[in-house]
Amino acid sequence: MADGQKAVIDEGQCTGCGICVDVCSTKALEMVDDLAKLVRPGDCDGRGECVEACPVQCITLK
Ligand code: SF4
Ligand code: SF4
Repeated sequence: MADGQKAVIDEGQCTGCGICVDVCSTKALEMVDDLAKLVRPGDCDGRGECVEACPVQCITLK
């Protein structure tokens, strides 16, 4: 995985389940108005636990 990748959430697909927030070890994600958001992009390590965990595959690393 390339350095500096960050989680990018397709909000149109997000169901608001919150799983990605639970699995994010750096707490870079939070739920905002029932959608997942990368609220602390500087804390995202790009390892992609959220990508693996999202049941609707709406998170990618870019
Ligand atoms: S890639 Fe890792 S650090 Fe970044 S938002 Fe996803 S789980 Fe959190
Ligand atoms: S795991 Fe996927 S569907 Fe669930 S809140 Fe996160 S981005 Fe949305």
